[in-house]
Amino acid sequence: MSDTPKKPKKNINKAKTKTPMREQPAGERIFNFEEVPLGYNEEEATLEALRCIQCKNKPCIAGCPVGIDIPAFLKLVGEKDYEGALRKIKEKNFLPAICGRVCPQEDQCEMVCTLNKPDKGRDPGGVGRVERFLGDYAMEHDLTITPECAAPTGKKVAIIGSGPAGLTAASDLAQKGHDVTVYEALHKPGGVLFYGIPQFRLPKEILLREVDGLKDMGVKFVMNYPVGKAESLESVRERHDATFIGTGAGLPWFLGIPGENLNGVYSANEFLTRVNLMGGYKFPDGADTPVKNIKRIAVVGAGNTAMDSARTAKRLQPEIVYLVYRRSRLEMPARVEEIHHAEQEGIDFQLLHSPIEIVDNGKGAVGAIRCQEMELGEPDDSGRRRPVPVEGKIKEWAVDTVVLSIGQSPNPLLTADCPDLARDERRGTITINDWMQTSYEDTFAAGDIVTGGATVILAMGQGRKAADAMHRYLTSGDPAAPAGEDSDVCDGLS
Ligand SMILES: Cc1cc2nc3c(=O)[nH]c(=O)nc-3n(C[C@H](O)[C@H](O)[C@H](O)COP(=O)(O)OP(=O)(O)OC[C@H]3O[C@@H](n4cnc5c(N)ncnc54)[C@H](O)[C@@H]3O)c2cc1C
Repeated sequence: MSDTPKKPKKNINKAKTKTPMREQPAGERIFNFEEVPLGYNEEEATLEALRCIQCKNKPCIAGCPVGIDIPAFLKLVGEKDYEGALRKIKEKNFLPAICGRVCPQEDQCEMVCTLNKPDKGRDPGGVGRVERFLGDYAMEHDLTITPECAAPTGKKVAIIGSGPAGLTAASDLAQKGHDVTVYEALHKPGGVLFYGIPQFRLPKEILLREVDGLKDMGVKFVMNYPVGKAESLESVRERHDATFIGTGAGLPWFLGIPGENLNGVYSANEFLTRVNLMGGYKFPDGADTPVKNIKRIAVVGAGNTAMDSARTAKRLQPEIVYLVYRRSRLEMPARVEEIHHAEQEGIDFQLLHSPIEIVDNGKGAVGAIRCQEMELGEPDDSGRRRPVPVEGKIKEWAVDTVVLSIGQSPNPLLTADCPDLARDERRGTITINDWMQTSYEDTFAAGDIVTGGATVILAMGQGRKAADAMHRYLTSGDPAAPAGEDSDVCDGLS
């Protein structure tokens, strides 16, 4: 026998599928607004983290729009060093409890994971689930990991909009030592994270706790302040050395069909804002802006916003919630998890139907939704198969409420009095250069206002890129200058 000691076996969990996550049963959760997935405990998180094989190429890092060192934080969780793992994530992302819940990991880090072999029945590593565990662990254990801020530079920065793009830019610029003020039109910070995504997917307390971290870094918040109305963009720019625009894409689209002005038709944004932000479901007990007492409702669309609207409506206890979509299930743009949860909750999917009229009930309110039956033709520009009308096939469902969730574009309020700010006239988005700089030298933009409706993590990634360029602009006058020594905005976590 050789004396050479055997190499210790790697501590790896060879399970093919993700460690399951407990969730509220569908039959219970449709009666409350509590969170649906219940998260991992320490044992489950460690087990899932140990599925990561620490492969050489680490494709997950490039798959993450903010470049989190995913194998490193999973390794630390596998060693039960939760604080170390959290520090590793916070080098790149200060909102782990949020991103762990709402990021489309299945299209990003998990999609490119070396483990991901659906044909062999093998799941990718459950990156989002472990990330969420760490965010929650920090809150449960009052573990504050606040980045150290550089010495004050004396430069004043305005951030317009407090969605994920604005919050990320604010965090990064505060760390660089700049004096940051966030101006927000609504009375709560967070953008879509607050007013759009419902409590049962992202509890508001979690968002507010993560936003508190910014206040600890000295970021000031001015709420109820719609720039463009409360004060012009020009005036805000005059008071600051640099300005960041992250006002999102909150202007809903309509179908342009008869009946859209009837009582009982909502845009998804209005419906979700009334319920999520203003407690509109509590009427008559305390909501000034209630939603209707709904009996039969049709939600039109099949993205995350449509799923959120349908699942929110379900919790208002109507008789039926239809989800009307003009293509098939395969083309639905919502996250797979949201579609799955909506089906479990009994949302009635009416696929391959496109609304052609919202029918008056004779009293100026919604009485029915009339739809054209569709079939799928050749792929269109989006790469998805184009819906084509089936001649003579019209169907009608009796409803009293219709929620339209077919897309949105930037709200023109902010930029209405800035004709010389370069924009894409068709999409309404602000045009930027490679450094996220607008046609105003001192003004940068990121998130949905630039891309149109996208994702939380993309908005954050862009917010970070803009903050880097703004820092270079503030310190050297050139946003394209080579990055200095302190270019890694998250060095020095305390
Ligand atoms: C219902 C819904 C569900 C979604 N679900 C998901 C999901 O599960 N996962 C995911 O990754 N993405 C999801 N998205 C998309 C994602 O939320 C957005 O891409 C992201 O929030 C964009 O961030 P942002 O910072 O650019 O803008 P926003 O989040 O829209 O924030 C913009 C902020 O600017 C404020 N503002 C606007 N105009 C002004 C003004 N003139 N002055 C001051 N403030 C102003 C707004 O009030 C808002 O607070 C969802 C979107 C919706 C609508």
